[in-house]
Amino acid sequence: MSFTTLKTMNFVFVRVETRDGLVGWGEAACLGGPTWSEESAESVAATIERYIAPWLIGREATQIEALRVEMSRRVQGNPFARAAIEMALWDLNGRALGVPVHRLLGGRARDRVPLSWSLAVADPAAEVDEAREKVARGHRIFKIKTAAHPLAEDVRRIEAIRAAVGPGVSLRVDANQGWDRATALKAIRAITPYDLDFVEQPLPRWDLEGMAELGRRVDVPLMADESCFSPHDALAIARLGGVGILGLKITKSAGLLGTMAIARIAEAAGLGCYVGCMIETSLGTAAYLQVALAATPVTWGCELFGPLLLAGDVTREPVRYADGAILALDGPGLGVDVDEAALKQWIRH
Ligand code: MG
Repeated sequence: MSFTTLKTMNFVFVRVETRDGLVGWGEAACLGGPTWSEESAESVAATIERYIAPWLIGREATQIEALRVEMSRRVQGNPFARAAIEMALWDLNGRALGVPVHRLLGGRARDRVPLSWSLAVADPAAEVDEAREKVARGHRIFKIKTAAHPLAEDVRRIEAIRAAVGPGVSLRVDANQGWDRATALKAIRAITPYDLDFVEQPLPRWDLEGMAELGRRVDVPLMADESCFSPHDALAIARLGGVGILGLKITKSAGLLGTMAIARIAEAAGLGCYVGCMIETSLGTAAYLQVALAATPVTWGCELFGPLLLAGDVTREPVRYADGAILALDGPGLGVDVDEAALKQWIRH
């Protein structure tokens, strides 16, 4: 990505147990510290242990909405920490009722979600090979990470990848806030000939006006990821215009309810949605997938490929993929079962 190269991931796992022994799980995945946003595994763990768990114990687990509101009053910011708790409550409620979480969100709008694969290899020849090999295995969507290299190099990479995959494959670009206004305008104009679906977060997350202005000056749709954490952000983006797609992530939006609220704002504003990831295990991926299955505005697919990149996993069965898509889960709760022995292997001592 524009700001870091990832070799390891840090996770916080949340286990909520009811008096009658039912268990729900949640997860917060952090990109090797406070790199993508302010939160880290350490801050998430401290926030939960010190400021959420003490008051949550003994409360009514079926009241997810009321608990969400109270949690947001007791803990400002820290959406990853709050999301991990809310995820566990949804898992718990789905298991108590014997239904998958997407049923509680309105039911499945789709049976599978097209999967985007990210290309971000330091060696341009290697990423072209990777794209070719993935196309041969059924992948039809790629996201090219940019802004870590000079613009001319990024343009050459995009040109080479388009030439390798041909016209029928969907290409997107993600700058992860790596450009300023002038560079972004120049960059997007330079890459427009390569038929891109969208350019993700070209500008710093605080520059909503810049995103709106840029969106009116280029012919490629813009997607807001780091700029769109909360429903408030989504509303501000929708009002300013210029952005066509909102990136959904349960962690940045403090839970499934906040994420579904953003999808509703997108629907009302005529915007599409895409489900991003923070490289979750099959547990966190399953939670994101429940939203991707239920939220109708998710017309741009997802990048729920975390389990394909990680060296290990924490569930008995991983999430499943086929033909360039991630497949629906129909088990109760989040639809995956945590293997506590497997999880223990990855605990930091
Ligand atoms: Mg992104």
